[in-house]
Order: sequence, then structure tokens, then C-alpha cells
Amino acid sequence: MPARGRHTAATPPPAPLQASVLVLNRSYMAIHIVGVRRAFGLLCREVAEVVHLEEGSRNERTFANYDFQSWREISQLHAEFKQPHEDWVRAVNFEIRVPRVIRLLGFDQLPRQKLQINRRNVLARDGNCCQYCGGHFPSHQLSLDHITPRSRGGTTTWENVVCACLKCNIKKGGRTPNEAKMRLVRRPVKPKRNPLLLLRLGNPKYESWRTWIDGVYWDLGFRI
Ligand SMILES: [Zn+2]
Repeated sequence: MPARGRHTAATPPPAPLQASVLVLNRSYMAIHIVGVRRAFGLLCREVAEVVHLEEGSRNERTFANYDFQSWREISQLHAEFKQPHEDWVRAVNFEIRVPRVIRLLGFDQLPRQKLQINRRNVLARDGNCCQYCGGHFPSHQLSLDHITPRSRGGTTTWENVVCACLKCNIKKGGRTPNEAKMRLVRRPVKPKRNPLLLLRLGNPKYESWRTWIDGVYWDLGFRI
């Protein structure tokens, strides 16, 4: 029986809040990926609207636009018929469906995103695989590891940060891989495209994103 009370990893947030929302600019060009809270913030402030792939129209790809109020009403009508591929969040006294795509209504409300080196993006780049043992882990069981430790002058760059399982992280400690006699599964590099985008596109829940990032934007590398 596993020891109890020794699990120190943070409890992950509920799945719906971990979802991602694609942001289009006014001209329907994909420019951003944001979290659920940020997306609802933009909708509540009425600087963005929902762009929703209508149910049962996957072949024709009919999209409908909703402001926050109408999206909330549609959600309430639909709340009894939730589908497994949908994400829902509960507000104070109502439930609302998490949109997959929103569109900014004005110009230049959100600058184009630079690809940030952060936990979410590193885990996505590494496919949630510990880069020392090669094992696959849920996000909350992974930590970021500086290959050359910061205490030894290692920098926080795409080439020096990988994700590692807790066991490997502890084993490596403040040493370099050579000192710890641990080999990297592969040499880390800066991703050419937003790794979160690739990760999400592998999930049927985000099927509607393809409309906006297939073709030209995709080929241009979707600079976020
Ligand atoms: Zn490991």
C-alpha cells in the first residue's frame, strides 16, 4: 500500500479550467491561445464574442457568433444535454459552456503572443514525457528541470529547461546530467510552433480550431 500523505505535488485545477481558447482577431485570423478565465474576462468585458461551430454542421462548418449574454442563454438551454467533449464551468448561480474559439471585436486589443518559456509550454513541447527516464506523466507529477542548474550558471532557455518526473528531479538534484550520470532522452530546442497548439490539435475537442489554423496561418507558423 503506498505511503499516505507524502504526495507533495500541487492538486491540478479542475479539467475545464485547464482548457484553452483560441483567439481570433477581428479579421478572423488566429493570433492567440488563452486560458478559460482570460477568455471569459474578454467576453464579460464585451471586447470579444464567441465563434461557435454549430452542432451537426461539421461538414459545412457553419459558425455562429454570440455575445456573452446570448452565449450564456444558449448554454442554459443546452445545460441538460451536455456532451462528453464539452467543458463547462460553474459561475455563482449558473453554468456556462467553455467556448473553443473567441473573436476580438476591436483592433489591437491583444498584442501577438511571443512563445513564452513557462511550465505549460515546456510540458507541451516535451509531450509530458520526463526527459530523463522517458516516462509519461500527468502534468501535476512533472516539474521543470534546469539541465545545467541555475546555481551553476544555467539559464532559463528552451535549450536548458526540460520537464522531469519528481523521481528523476530528486535523483538529479543540483547536478549536471553528466555528474548525475543521467542522459537526456533528446536535446531540447526551441519549438518552431506553439507546442500547446500541436498538443490541442491532437485532441478532438479542439477540432473547430482547424478551421482557423489550417492553411495559410498554419504554414506561416502561427507566430504565438
Ligand atoms: Zn523521470
